[in-house]
Amino acid sequence: MVDKYTIEFDHVEKSYQNNTVIPDLNLTIPAGERLILLGPSGCGKSTTLRMIAGLEEVTGGELRIGGRRVNEIPSGERNIAMVFQNYALYPHMSVEENIVYALRVHKMNREEMQRRLKTALEILNLKPYVKRKPRELSGGQRQRVALARALVKQSPYLLLDEPLSNLDAQLRGQARKELVKIHELYHQTFIYVTHDQVEAMTVGQRIALINQGDLQMVDTPYRIYNRPANVFTARFIGSPATNILDAQWDGRALYILGQKTSLPDCWSRLIARNGEEAVYLGIRPEHIRLQAGVCENALCGQIRYIEDYGSKRGVYVAVGDTEVVCICDCPPCGAGETVSFYLDSDHIHLFSRSTEKSLGYPEEVSDEQALQPLILERHDSVPA
Ligand code: ADP
Ligand code: MG
Repeated sequence: MVDKYTIEFDHVEKSYQNNTVIPDLNLTIPAGERLILLGPSGCGKSTTLRMIAGLEEVTGGELRIGGRRVNEIPSGERNIAMVFQNYALYPHMSVEENIVYALRVHKMNREEMQRRLKTALEILNLKPYVKRKPRELSGGQRQRVALARALVKQSPYLLLDEPLSNLDAQLRGQARKELVKIHELYHQTFIYVTHDQVEAMTVGQRIALINQGDLQMVDTPYRIYNRPANVFTARFIGSPATNILDAQWDGRALYILGQKTSLPDCWSRLIARNGEEAVYLGIRPEHIRLQAGVCENALCGQIRYIEDYGSKRGVYVAVGDTEVVCICDCPPCGAGETVSFYLDSDHIHLFSRSTEKSLGYPEEVSDEQALQPLILERHDSVPA
């Protein structure tokens, strides 16, 4: 059942001339959701947003709002408010004039217009600046004017295209919180484009991760981080990126970078169910524990270099031709020295080598929790 405000992409395709940038998009955005469109630069986020706003033609499939096809409905009739990346304020108008311009064009009565203006100025702390021109404002203030201009429309949808990208890090953190507060106040559908994973995780109720026009995963920040659907998602979220290691299944044991491991049953069942011998094992840098020297039953390698993040350190370790990165409070030894790894089996991810899709998680095949650390057995040869 879709309600009056649900947005649905139904096999939507978008091409510019002969260049297909979105091949086949299927996505439903329920009313009132705070959805993030996340992905690397050029993956099609703005294009997707602009199709909702009616600023970009849909070249295939159907886009529906409230169950009604809107492919041919012009932008002005969609009742959508949008904040552009460059804010697009009118330079010759004051803050006040910028905010109410669209209302004036729609001949809204004066009292209602003033009421909305007053509320927006209060919420966004813009009262001291009403008479100023955009050039007399800081980046953060301009961003708030652009947001105020979108809010006074009181439309059921607020589309934001990288609205914080021109702000410095401190202001961005503050603006993120303000945006969430505004959403909680008005419950409009927020569709928010960003390439910044931190912004996506902190602002989003759900994140739609896109790569080259293809939707990779749509889910809560928690699941995107903990239950990535594929290798791309596992690597895109988190910094430094998730380690993706070659692994081989011989029907009984898993060999990670050639090192034999005995997996908890639930993981073995997932690999057996997959049926492929070669898989990828994903492990985040924060889920590896290091110990100095060569330890029994552990994967080991040599520290290449150490990065300092202030509170933590990133340790880059060479294991044969593979580089594994780990995050820890304090490295057990220095560059050039040998370390052993302990992978927390509660935090591993397994992916098909051929499709790069997740093989699933223990909760799908068992009730028991896979809490014990992976026992790695010393072994010299990789199975053929
Ligand atoms: P994002 O917002 O994720 O950075 P865009 O949606 O702006 O990406 O662009 C997606 C792809 O479409 C890019 O490869 C871009 O070059 C292309 N593109 C965007 N707008 C146009 C256009 N007007 N004409 C031709 N190609 C375009
Ligand atoms: Mg863009």
